[in-house]
Amino acid sequence: MTRTFVVPSDDEKKMILKEYRSLIKICRPNLKPGDEARIQKAFEIAMREHEGTRRKSGEPYILHPIEVARIAAEEIGLGATSVICALLHDVVEDTDFTAENIKKELGPKVSRIVEGLTKIKIIKGVTKNKTKDSVAHQAENLKKILLTLSEDVRVILVKIADRLHNMRTLKSMPERKQVRISAETLYIYSPMAHRLGLYAIKTELEDLCLKYMIPETYKEIATKLAQTKRDRDRFIRDFINPLKEKLTDKGIKNFEIFGRSKSINSIFNKIKNKNVEFEEIADLFAIRIVVDVPPEQEKEDCWKIYSLVSDQYRPIVERLRDWISNPKSNGYESLHTTVMGPGGKLVEVQIRSKRMDEIAEKGVAAHWKYKGGKASGNALDNWLERVREALQNQDADAVDFVNDFKHNLYEKDLYVFTPKGDLRTIRGGSTVIDFAFDIHSEVGRKCIGAKIKNKLQPISHKLSNGDQIEIITSKKQKPSKDWLEFAVTSKARTRIKADLKAEKRIIADDGKLIFERKMKSLKEEITRDLIDQIVTFYKQGDALTFFYNIATKQFNVAELKKLSIIGGKIQNIVDRKQNASKTEEEPAQEYEVNTDVDLQIFGGLDNVDYHIAPCCSPKQGDSVFGFITIASGIKIHRQSCPNAKDMKTRYPYRVVKTKWASESKDVSFLTGLRITGIDDVGLVNRLTGVVSRELGVNMRSISFDTVDGVFEGNIAVYVNSTKELNNLIKGLKALDGVHEVRKYST
Ligand code: MN
Repeated sequence: MTRTFVVPSDDEKKMILKEYRSLIKICRPNLKPGDEARIQKAFEIAMREHEGTRRKSGEPYILHPIEVARIAAEEIGLGATSVICALLHDVVEDTDFTAENIKKELGPKVSRIVEGLTKIKIIKGVTKNKTKDSVAHQAENLKKILLTLSEDVRVILVKIADRLHNMRTLKSMPERKQVRISAETLYIYSPMAHRLGLYAIKTELEDLCLKYMIPETYKEIATKLAQTKRDRDRFIRDFINPLKEKLTDKGIKNFEIFGRSKSINSIFNKIKNKNVEFEEIADLFAIRIVVDVPPEQEKEDCWKIYSLVSDQYRPIVERLRDWISNPKSNGYESLHTTVMGPGGKLVEVQIRSKRMDEIAEKGVAAHWKYKGGKASGNALDNWLERVREALQNQDADAVDFVNDFKHNLYEKDLYVFTPKGDLRTIRGGSTVIDFAFDIHSEVGRKCIGAKIKNKLQPISHKLSNGDQIEIITSKKQKPSKDWLEFAVTSKARTRIKADLKAEKRIIADDGKLIFERKMKSLKEEITRDLIDQIVTFYKQGDALTFFYNIATKQFNVAELKKLSIIGGKIQNIVDRKQNASKTEEEPAQEYEVNTDVDLQIFGGLDNVDYHIAPCCSPKQGDSVFGFITIASGIKIHRQSCPNAKDMKTRYPYRVVKTKWASESKDVSFLTGLRITGIDDVGLVNRLTGVVSRELGVNMRSISFDTVDGVFEGNIAVYVNSTKELNNLIKGLKALDGVHEVRKYST
């Protein structure tokens, strides 16, 4: 960050002191004796060290740490130590003051947290300029952040406060930086805030990201929200008034009832994902009832209020969500119900105690505050425990780990039961095999299926909430490669991979013998270097894979005869290399011609994972759509199928566009992929190369945008099977510079 040195004017000094005093005022109720003096000391150090420096906006730099401290105290509810760390958070990185100095002045705890905060930045600095292996790097980065997190959550909380203030003041940054910082916030910080239960902050961060990344859309939604506010407010008033009366009549005291609008970002997501207009969104707001009662009475009162609400408005029973008996893993507790309001409009009502509300809005810190109270759930502690456990798992490769973690950030947890009735939490999307490994790795290895609801289910069976699972094992069972296609937890995946690797090694030993015999017959001397050359020449990945492929006859050793080796060096390499670089240099225009191919030829392709739906049995030429079923791949229905409307309205996300290929009965699905990554020369070439050359997938359109090195592309492709799609995604993900490949509905 470039900063200019200008000593603050008298007015500015006054302003700084005023800001500091207001910070102290906020902190005071929670301070222990001596805390204020320590905060004062931290402030003086920060003041002295940042003296004369200014932010991009021109204001004195010290205002930033003061504001970060205020956010930490007021909006996250943190105590004195965090406030001190927030005041000092930029000191070690930006000035000559060291962590050692901080330790002397304010003790080891503060210096450790500030050091953690500094480390996060430094790791980031390394990755910024590195496009090679960037996925792995980012993953490694995130893993390190998480490691710090599990040591002391305060590091992350102060970091989030820091990020929030930077996002709030992003206006004064140049545009390309705005986009980059927003992208990073969306990638790491808002999911983190979500996981830590900092709902209000997560929402604000996402709205700010949208504001800087897609300004027109943001503005459009904000305007429409403002325009419709009057009508909404009137509706909320009409909805609330009779309820208020009723609750008071029935002796509920100390409650608040109000309407809350959806965030701009969540409205945006709805428009995008469900493909609807702003005007079509029914739930632009929710009603919240917050009751202030002692912990031992809160559950009873919430249910009492629920019953009064449903006396007044007819509830939609299936939409009742009881997060009080079963808190979410980020600590969220609340009772949600949807009722039929005036004019037949569906309205969500959230019922919770003041304690629950504070945890929902402020997350962890509030959670700690109430921890003494007996009503607090320990879901969050469980989660932190799991983070710690996962981090201690040294074998997990960082990418796998981060995928699992990021998935964890968004995906809802599943609550399932052991045969004895013990409740276990497992990542959403988990299958029988994940559950088996979660119980014990030996149970996982030997698992052949499970009994769920008196039915036998395969190891690939996806679990549902409330399942009681009895794992069935067999001594003869052992992990196989296809398990990786449905195992989703990093615990299961890591163990399976380790086992497979061990087995691969045993098989590879045979291959090595075959290789050595062949080389002997060719009178070539085997050196480590020569093996490496051969592996590279035949694109075998590594020696282990090479020997394994020989043993499994995927590589024919007769090929080796074709090599001309002189002095331990393969001579053919020159030709290959020339060929390779030639393909890379193909001009970009060639791919642009490909940007709107609408190919309809699908003859001779197999591996199609679809079935014709028996309910309407479409024939070739009918206009059709695909519907993803739980158990049997994709089912093809006529557009005019009697069930079509139901499927499309209830499960729009499971509908895939489908059309007949012209010459055969094969069908293909139009799928959109969104690719984000770090742009460098040739990324677009490599992407289109993978799609059209290597995988032979038919691309319909591609569009991409690069802003300050952050690449975002959308491609629409026709694929013939989910397998083909997965291969494509895998191929794209393997490219240097690609961060994430996601499906979106076209
Ligand atoms: Mn900062």
